[in-house]
Amino acid sequence: MKHDVIVLGAGMVGVSCALHLQARGLSVALVDRRAPGMETSYGNAGIIQREAIAPYALPRGLGFLLSGMTNRRVDVRYQAGSVARLIGPLWSYYRHSAPEAYQQIAREYETLIARSLDTHEQLMDDASVRHLVAGHGYLMLYRSERELHEFFKVADQRAQAGVRHTKLSSAELAQAEPSLVGEFAGAVRWTDPLAISSPGDLVQAYARLFAQRRGSLHLGDATTLRKTDAGHWQVDAADGMQEAPQVVVALGPWTTTLTQRFGYTAPVIPKRGYHMHYARLPDKPLHSTVIDGEYGFVVAPMKDGLRLTTGAELAVPDAPRAHGQLDAAEAVARGVFPIGQRVDREPWMGTRPCMPDMKPVFGAVPDVPGMWCAFGHGHQGFTLGPITGELLADMVTGAPPRVDVRPFSPARFLA
Ligand SMILES: Cc1cc2nc3c(=O)[nH]c(=O)nc-3n(C[C@H](O)[C@H](O)[C@H](O)COP(=O)(O)OP(=O)(O)OC[C@H]3O[C@@H](n4cnc5c(N)ncnc54)[C@H](O)[C@@H]3O)c2cc1C
Repeated sequence: MKHDVIVLGAGMVGVSCALHLQARGLSVALVDRRAPGMETSYGNAGIIQREAIAPYALPRGLGFLLSGMTNRRVDVRYQAGSVARLIGPLWSYYRHSAPEAYQQIAREYETLIARSLDTHEQLMDDASVRHLVAGHGYLMLYRSERELHEFFKVADQRAQAGVRHTKLSSAELAQAEPSLVGEFAGAVRWTDPLAISSPGDLVQAYARLFAQRRGSLHLGDATTLRKTDAGHWQVDAADGMQEAPQVVVALGPWTTTLTQRFGYTAPVIPKRGYHMHYARLPDKPLHSTVIDGEYGFVVAPMKDGLRLTTGAELAVPDAPRAHGQLDAAEAVARGVFPIGQRVDREPWMGTRPCMPDMKPVFGAVPDVPGMWCAFGHGHQGFTLGPITGELLADMVTGAPPRVDVRPFSPARFLA
């Protein structure tokens, strides 16, 4: 079947690109090897992070580096063999995390995050899925006074950029979440973010909206992508071959495996995460999503139970599963959160596709006519999918984007 554009990958980023291209009047085929929203966009913490105006830098302090050496931290772990293979990108990440470079990156990142909520809300209204919003805002929790006050400073800085919050004392926190156990200095409640009760359901609802608007959705393998003599793209799907003059590669952590066959690659730092659902305890509700600020894991009330998502594990795709980080986070969480028995048979695992300069990558693939890409959204791809889709659709159709897209150009990784 012939279309104007093929979008490869139906995670939050690919589905959002497909919807925005379709809204410009293009006929779009969306192809994934699974149903929409079943990979990274399924297993995340489900927060639309309007507050995340600065991306995660690599901590450069000696304390972090020393404590990381034992590989027993709860928030960050690594697989030694993977680190050896990622030395180049990690060194680049370290350099981009230096204060001056980082400030510029954060300014650019903010231009996307500032539009993330509006672009989601528009799609949520169009898809009639406001019921998937489980809560407004979330809590950042701290035990130590010193850490809390450092975080209050971050909150005050972000307030100057229009990000709203409230500060909670220990007593106010106990009132807001009486089921939490332990001595806490207090918390920050970011009030703008949205907590979604099932991230995969949100992607699927957006994909249904795309199909209702006459988009064509196909099961198929992106690795069958090829170019015809006439310069068109073809990909094999279960219901027949799909063809178009333009293709958007939005395969999340799998993107560069495909694009490098056509001569384009970029240094992705894979940061794995794991999740597990736990039963709710009777009469002990958790009202909002909570990030444990000191241990770097999230507990989110979701459709399938209380979902604990871990921080980052540096691990290349063929590295084995390692459940130690989840077990360590669970051990901390059991002393604090009202979580019951494990619900899932085994932990879910997914990979945040992170770039050394912490910014997503979207736009024309250099030197490959008719190929576009959208990937590398790291810790905030669930948040940034819709604004990425809007800006990519602008570029494909030649419309002026409302954000300067140059900082996100795929060409920045050319030697
Ligand atoms: C533990 C954890 C917690 C997170 N929490 C948050 C959060 O709270 N908020 C937030 O904004 N972000 C969060 N993130 C990050 C976010 O989940 C990702 O950035 C985002 O999901 C990436 O979306 P994507 O569409 O690029 O990739 P994906 O969702 O992975 O989609 C890629 C798609 O490509 C398809 N695909 C791959 N190979 C092929 C092939 N050969 N043929 C066909 N299809 C193929 C896959 O099936 C998949 O559907 C979290 C991530 C993790 C791991």
